[in-house]
Amino acid sequence: MPHGGIPGANVALIVQKYGGSSVADAESIKRVAKRIVDARRAGHDVVVAVSAMGDTTDELLDLAAQVAPIPAPRELDMLLSSGERISMALLAMAIHSMGFEARSFTGSQAGMITDATHGAARIVDVTPVRLREALDEGAIVIVAGFQGFNRDTRDITTLGRGGSDTTAVALAAALEADVCEIYSDVDGIFTADPRVVPKARKLGVVSAEEMLELAANGAKVLYIRAVEYARRHGVLIHSRSTFSSSVGTYVLGPGMTLPDGESGEEMEEPIVAGVATDLSQAKITVIGVPDVPGKAAEIFKVIAKSGANVDMIVQNVSAATTGRTDISFTLPKTDAATALKALAGDQAEIGFLSLVHDDQIGKLSVVGAGMRTHSGVSATLFEALSIAGINIEMISTSEIRISVVVRGDDLAEAARVVHTAYGLDGDSDAVVHAGTGR
Ligand code: ASP
Ligand code: MG
Repeated sequence: MPHGGIPGANVALIVQKYGGSSVADAESIKRVAKRIVDARRAGHDVVVAVSAMGDTTDELLDLAAQVAPIPAPRELDMLLSSGERISMALLAMAIHSMGFEARSFTGSQAGMITDATHGAARIVDVTPVRLREALDEGAIVIVAGFQGFNRDTRDITTLGRGGSDTTAVALAAALEADVCEIYSDVDGIFTADPRVVPKARKLGVVSAEEMLELAANGAKVLYIRAVEYARRHGVLIHSRSTFSSSVGTYVLGPGMTLPDGESGEEMEEPIVAGVATDLSQAKITVIGVPDVPGKAAEIFKVIAKSGANVDMIVQNVSAATTGRTDISFTLPKTDAATALKALAGDQAEIGFLSLVHDDQIGKLSVVGAGMRTHSGVSATLFEALSIAGINIEMISTSEIRISVVVRGDDLAEAARVVHTAYGLDGDSDAVVHAGTGR
């Protein structure tokens, strides 16, 4: 039994991640410290990944923008990584004052080795030698989230917004932790955003593949890269609230099982796991494209070169009289201006007539592994929207997802009627702590 754990108790190595809203001020840091100490008292080894306090990262980005229009990526990473250093040191101090040993480590001290891409670095290796030593000496380990170190450039990197989730999962994988608990200000993964759909229910379990689709289509509680990493490395994620002790949602990868004693609230596989909404996309329509081979290739090559990330694409039948067609696609609102500029620059060569930009769209996605084996899933969606009088502008599907684009103003109502149509509504309204999920 290592470090004086309770004899007979189930000693585990637990990785916990606390988001910015959980460590927003001194009071919150003390609350989190107590939670960490509770896990230690129960006899577990505890490793914590922590985000920057509250909106620190946004404030630092803002400061950078005030001194330089385009801050140097290397310096921006130096700046942003400091946010997590503040919270890790404060958290370690708070734990000390409760009489427990804690040691904080930066990403590079913790052995988070990444590629050299500033602002969006990928973890390539984790060498947690110092963390193991600290654990062996009985300390609680606190690691600055969201950051790493590149061996070639010998520079500090950051992992991209929300990167502390990935830090936590990567630590859990490298240390072979029993569970990676991701704490935020919401109770877990819901069948829909409770602020949009009041009858949304917390899921006991969700599969990693469903979680990936939900996250890719607007659900904000967990970051895609963290879920991907967890699925690939067999890490069990438990998404739960800092503000309550109730069980949250387990994200299960292939072949993974729930920890002993957890039954999961609904082991029977529902056809649809959840409904995701996304207001962050815009639609661009290229009007009057000559309907000859090669034009779509030309258009999307230009878009790709502009760096925009295209999501849905629809091409209309061409008008026989003109031999021209319209092509619409969606992309993140933040990519639209560059994409439009790039297209306009090549208008003569491609030969289209005009461009229309629409940033008032909303995307609704229904996700469920049960779609593979059940028919009529899309009919239910279309019928619910039709009864509500909501017009569908675009449709796309994957193996376990159906997405539609509607007017942005219709999105919330669309989500509610679809949630009801799939039988996902809970008996009572979900308790919303006005959380952001971070
Ligand atoms: N502090 C970083 C951010 O706000 C990383 C994180 O919170 O996970 O994006
Ligand atoms: Mg943050």
